[in-house]
Amino acid sequence: MSQDDTFKFELPHSSPVEPTRLELDDKLKFRCHRGVSCWNRCCSRADVTLAPYDILRMKDALGMDTTEFLKQHTVPFELDMHSVPGLKLRTDDEGACLFMGKEGCSVYDNRPTACRYYPSGLLSMKSISEATDERHFLLIKEDHCKGHDEDQIQTIGEYRKAQGVEEYDDLNHEWYQIILKKKSTGPSIGKPSDMSLQMFFMASYDMDRFRRFVMSDSFIKMYDLSDDEYAELEKDDIALMKFGFRLMKQVFFGELTIKEREGAWEERIKERKEILEFRKQAEIAAHQKREEEARNASIDDKE
Ligand code: SF4
Ligand code: SF4
Repeated sequence: MSQDDTFKFELPHSSPVEPTRLELDDKLKFRCHRGVSCWNRCCSRADVTLAPYDILRMKDALGMDTTEFLKQHTVPFELDMHSVPGLKLRTDDEGACLFMGKEGCSVYDNRPTACRYYPSGLLSMKSISEATDERHFLLIKEDHCKGHDEDQIQTIGEYRKAQGVEEYDDLNHEWYQIILKKKSTGPSIGKPSDMSLQMFFMASYDMDRFRRFVMSDSFIKMYDLSDDEYAELEKDDIALMKFGFRLMKQVFFGELTIKEREGAWEERIKERKEILEFRKQAEIAAHQKREEEARNASIDDKE
């Protein structure tokens, strides 16, 4: 890949330390356990970027819907210069993760991808000329992290397996592709519209709101899905998340995998035109009414 046309997405804990690039078979000398002198240090300065499957796992573990989870446990940031929305885990004022307890992470079995990877990270790179990304890894060696002084040696591949990160990467992979493709097409098509950014946010993070959108009359009028497909999307979060990735690819990049009903776009454009015309007429009528009232008021003053 040439550096000029390469776009990357990284999923580390944010750190001032310059990471080293690693491959799957490279060795990592590291072990984290309750006996280390730095226990919880990493979580007391947490800067954790979230991916869609992270949110599904955490909201299920906490028994919340996604809208409530996002409100209570996340803060927004921009993933790139085109205002593509990202989310990080909320922390307290000192930067400590709200899930950190004396015993360690209170959502350990459902902790996000970035926490599973640490002190390594994911580096996804895509060239404009390539159809898919290349996956590499990062090593962030921070002074406070004493896990690097431990004797355990494993490959990055073994570490990912032990941390249960493979399932997360597999389920989030299509989403990383969308971000990379958005980055690589961004400058040529300009800043994405507010509507496409809202669609990205809802289909990436707010699965319960996205489900209401997919089950709405206007969506059903637009897309030709079978009853079985709708039944699956209604009850299965992972199926809905994957469907969201397909829908984003269709809407953003024209990759048609979801059948649209014949004439649905034309009907929608016609409806929009009618709504716009109705609004225009209502504004003209309101303006005329204000002018008439002003005229009547000025006649009353003169009398
Ligand atoms: S979610 Fe858990 S592992 Fe991740 S920063 Fe918070 S406490 Fe640490
Ligand atoms: S060894 Fe590193 S990852 Fe483990 S608690 Fe210490 S700072 Fe965190």
